[in-house]
Parts: sequence; C-alpha cells; structure tokens
Amino acid sequence: MNVSQKIISLRGELREHNYNYYVLDQPTISDYEFDMKLKELQDLEKAHPEFHDPTSPTLRVGGTITKTFDTIVHEHRMYSLDNSYSKEDLQDWEKRIQRILGDVPVAFVCELKYDGASISLTYEEGKLLRAVTRGDGFQGDDVTTNVKTIKSIPLQLKGDFPPKFDIRGEIILTLEGFAQMNQERIENGEEPYMNPRNTASGSLKLQDSTLVAKRPLDCLLYSVVGATGIQTQFEMLEKAREWGFKVPTVAKLCKSTDEVLQFVEYWDVHRHDLPYETDGVVVKVNGLQQQDELGNTAKSPRWAMAYKFKAEQTSTVLREITYQVGRTGAITPVANLEPVLLAGTTVKRASLHNADQIAKLDVRVGDTVFVEKGGEIIPKIIAVDFTKRNPDSRPTEYITHCPECGTALIRKEGEAQHFCPNDTGCPPQITGRIQHFISRKAMDIEGLGSETVELLFKEGLIANYADLYTLTEAQVIPLERMAEKSAENLVKGIEASKAIPFERVLFALGIRYVGETVAKKLARSFKNIDALMQATEEALIRVDEIGGRIAESVVQFFAVESNRELVERLKHHGLQFSLSEEQLSNQSDKLQGQTFVVSGVFATLSRNELKKLIEDNGGKVASSVSSKTSYLIAGENMGPSKRTKAEGLGVPIVSEQTFLQMLTE
Ligand code: AMP
Ligand code: ZN
Repeated sequence: MNVSQKIISLRGELREHNYNYYVLDQPTISDYEFDMKLKELQDLEKAHPEFHDPTSPTLRVGGTITKTFDTIVHEHRMYSLDNSYSKEDLQDWEKRIQRILGDVPVAFVCELKYDGASISLTYEEGKLLRAVTRGDGFQGDDVTTNVKTIKSIPLQLKGDFPPKFDIRGEIILTLEGFAQMNQERIENGEEPYMNPRNTASGSLKLQDSTLVAKRPLDCLLYSVVGATGIQTQFEMLEKAREWGFKVPTVAKLCKSTDEVLQFVEYWDVHRHDLPYETDGVVVKVNGLQQQDELGNTAKSPRWAMAYKFKAEQTSTVLREITYQVGRTGAITPVANLEPVLLAGTTVKRASLHNADQIAKLDVRVGDTVFVEKGGEIIPKIIAVDFTKRNPDSRPTEYITHCPECGTALIRKEGEAQHFCPNDTGCPPQITGRIQHFISRKAMDIEGLGSETVELLFKEGLIANYADLYTLTEAQVIPLERMAEKSAENLVKGIEASKAIPFERVLFALGIRYVGETVAKKLARSFKNIDALMQATEEALIRVDEIGGRIAESVVQFFAVESNRELVERLKHHGLQFSLSEEQLSNQSDKLQGQTFVVSGVFATLSRNELKKLIEDNGGKVASSVSSKTSYLIAGENMGPSKRTKAEGLGVPIVSEQTFLQMLTE
C-alpha cells in the first residue's frame, strides 16, 4: 500500500468509527485504538500535505482561529415555528389546514423540539461545504470550521445522497456533557455555565476551533431542503439517517390529531428520560406536496406547529416595579424580582405588560409571585401567592407621568398601553427612533450602535436621525471609547446608508404601524415619497392590505411639520426616496385588481418567483380559491380540491405559459 492509499484507507476507517461512536452510539473499537489510528493519520497528513482533504477526520480536532464570522445569506429562508399550547390550538390548526387543502387525508409527523442552536448545513457532492447559524432567518454566520469539529456531523456522506442540498438541525449539548463541562470549570475555579442551550449556541461562535472540538457538542437533524425525489417528511428523516446523519428515531407518523396528542402526552412525561433538553413537540404535515401547497406566513410555515410543553414555574418576591419608555412612547411596566433560578437561568425581571395586567393580577410590591418561563426571553408573572401577602400592602398605583420627561401620560380609547405624548422632547423616544433608523433591517448603519446613539444624543451632537448625516469625524473622536478608526467607520457607515433602497428608508422613518412589509407595499404602490406624502387616507386604503389604522397613521405622520422637515433634510443628503430604475422597470399595473391562486409545481418558475411576478405587476396572491379569485394558475400535481372548487365557481384555470403570456400582452 502506498502513502496515498494508506491515508485514504485510514480516513475511511476513522470515518466509520466516528459514525459508530457518535451517531449510532455503538463503538466497535476502544478509545485508545481510535486515538492511535488518528495519530497515525495526522502524522501522514503532516508529512504529505499534498493529500489534503477538507473532509478528513483529522479536522475534527480543530486548530483554526476565526477572527470574524462571515455573514451568509440563506438560500432557503429559515423560518420560525408557530406555537400552540392546548388541544384546541392544535385542532384549530388542523381545521385551517383542511380548509386550504380541501377534503383530503392529511397525515402528520411528530418530532421532538430539540432545545439548542439552529444550524443549516450545505452539502455538495456528499461533502460538507458550509454551516451557517440561523441568524435572523434570512442570513446567519458562517461557522463551518467550528461545526466541522462536531463528530456526529458527517463531513462525507454515505449511500445515495442528492448532489446538492441543505439540511437543518439543532446543535445541542447533552445534559451529561454539559454537567461534565461545568464540573471541570468548577475544578478550575471558573464560573459554571447557566444552561446547555446558551452554551451550545455560544460554542459555535468561539474563535478557537480547538476549544469547540473539546466540547461535547452534538447535532440532531430534522429537515432536508432543496433535494428532489422525496415525497414525505417521514421519508426525508429516513433518508437523512441513511446518508449518515443523526436523526432521532422518536419521530412518529400519525394519522390524526388524536394520535398527535397521545405523542405529546407521552413525551411531556418521558422527555425527562432523554439525554438532552426538549421544549415541546413539532408537528408537521407529512406530504411535501401538501407542505408546499400550504406555504408560509411572514414568519413561519403553515404546515408545521410547535406544541410547547408546559413551562416551568417558580415563585419569588417582587421588589419593585419600574417603567420603561419605548420609541413610540409606549410605557411598559417591568417587575424587578428577587433573583431566582428558573429553567436554568437566573431571573431578575419579568414583564407586566400594562396597567390592566397589574390590576387584574392585583400584584403589589413585596408580594410573592409565581413566575413562568415559556419560550420567550423575558419570563412573566402569572399570579400572586396571596397566602404570603403582607396585610399592610396597598394596591399598586400606576404612574401618571412619564418617568423620563415628566409629561402626563395618555391612554387612548380601546388601547391597553399608556403613552408619553412628548415625542419630540422625551429622551428615550428620541434615541429610540434613531436606534430604529440605524437598525439592521432599516438603514443598517455599520459602525454605529445603540450605545453610541445615546452618547451622541447626550453630548448634544444629534437630536434626530437627519442630524446623523452632518456628523464629522472631528466631532466624534473626542467621545468616550471612540478612536480615530471607529470614528472613521462610523462616518463611512452613515455615508454608505445613502444607497439603501426606498422601501427600507420608508421603514426606517419609524411611522407607527409601518413595518417592513407595509413599507414595501407602500413603496411599490406610490413609487416615491412625494406621492406618498400627498396621499389621502382613501388613496392609502385602496392599496392591498393597507387598512384604516395604517392609513391614518401615515397621514398623521406627514401632517406634522417637523416630520416633513426631516424628510426634506434626508432628501437633501441624498437618501433614496423613490424606487430605482430597475425596480420600476420590473413593475407594472397590468394585474391591478386581480387576485390569483397559485397551486402545484411549475416548470420554469418557482412558486415564489411566480408570486413575486404577480405582486410586481399589481396583482394579489391568495391562498385559497373563492368567488373573489380571478385566476387559478395550475401547475403539475395541483391539489384536486382547488380544481373542483375553481370549476364550481367558474374561476378560469390557466397554465404557467398562459399566465406569462398575459403579462407580455
Ligand atoms: P422558534 O425559534 O421557537 O420559532 O422555533 C423554531 C426553531 O425550532 C427552529 O429554528 C429549529 O431550530 C427548532 N427546532 C427544534 N427541533 C425541531 C424540529 N424537530 N423540527 C423543526 N424545528 C425544530
Ligand atoms: Zn416622556
């Protein structure tokens, strides 16, 4: 055997042993023998760098330092999951699904919801190409070198895998591995880590991959995207297992929501026997064709639902209620608690929502309260332990004036929240608006963070977001923690934001109720800021999905002299206040007033491209056929119920080609 053959054979052997040990949990050789073989391979590779292979098992030990993690845009968005907490929630979900799919059988797959850090792995020709964190769902961080050290993730696949696909999973620390890590830390005189989930997710961002390699991280996979030929979720899990991934076998195929509920009940109790933490069950529609037909909402797939296990509870003493002022002036009461350990983290604060909530709970300073932690970061107070109430305690009186600026608070008819109306003079409102303006989804100004905004405001350098554009390096350098380089980056970042497209500038302005999606819709229909500023409420309501509340808010915003002045100043600085040539040329009003339903699989366009084309040309996309539907665009394998319904209502059914012709006519 020559050197190259020896290297290849050792790699193959070690790969198999890794698989047996970390995926199957059934090692066939001793750790010592494994280490000897690994050492032999390391030595050979070192002596013969010409045989380098990015999937070699020797890479599992790490050794790379990553200074900054590159941002990668996900080819397929990573969605969240909707949550349900009861049998009724689940049955409502099933009804919604059946309404869209029609009267056809629907099967479900139940999986556990592993509590860790989500990851998307890209494989090409069977080799791990890239690993990216979920990030905001659209883009995440490239953590490939760190992920390569996780032994249960195959660097090279086995069997009959597709040429290119992404696979999603959850990177976790087992409870045992976590306890061991903490034991070592305590022995070294270090603080123990709080919980496995945060530690797993923090591990992915360590700069030294050798440290990552030492952590007992594991990866459980649950979804393949972009591979063709698979028909069901259940089959997908089986396939992924065959290719060498660790896919838990607890997944169950269920024919009804009753069976789903049995699964939930069983695991609500038995999850404590699992080697890792779970926080619920994920229920998915089994048929991928049906999944496709159901599609996604803005945040999550319609074909999946998380069923949360009952959250953990504890009790503690309420020390004080403080009040936060948000960027819109909304007041949020916050409970400051006697620190208490809950579900692995120390809890010091809890949300109290609003005055009504405080009154309803009758919660008072000094009370012992029950605190619950669901999926959210801030836990909530669910009740007062009245048996422990001090007889001298007095009902909580809600504040009447803004804690930041002293202005009398107002509360509008029908609204739960109190507001500070001093929007031009209340400091957290001013800085909050600027912070929103610079945020990632708005102007995305690099080199400028929330704290710097507060500092700039405190120093009197900015009083609104338009002031950012007159900042100079000389003004910024003397500030605390600013150096020449950071000042330069800040000014550069601000300059670069002038190229941000109109729809995001519109979102950045911070008009109440104008979120990302609404901003896009408004930009698309009005095309430039002047048209939008002149629009009446009636004209605004005529835009699809713009309701009275949004229309009123837009008109009110531009009626304020100081807001118009801000827009003028931003315009003067060269920000984008109209759609670009390219955006304009891709748009028309050809489909104005028409509603389309898209169903099935298409030959030349993806469903999303088709939908975008409809919207860019002024049409509307709906998910189910009704009397308001103008056309049903039918692809291959279209749901039979949609066809029957369209035929019944006399809705014309057209092919992809016919639709494309309609656009060119
Ligand atoms: P959430 O972050 O609460 O919206 O829940 C969505 C996350 O649940 C996903 O990003 C996944 O990382 C995670 N998850 C854990 N287990 C599963 C599973 N079996 N199927 C789908 N998602 C899962
Ligand atoms: Zn105020």
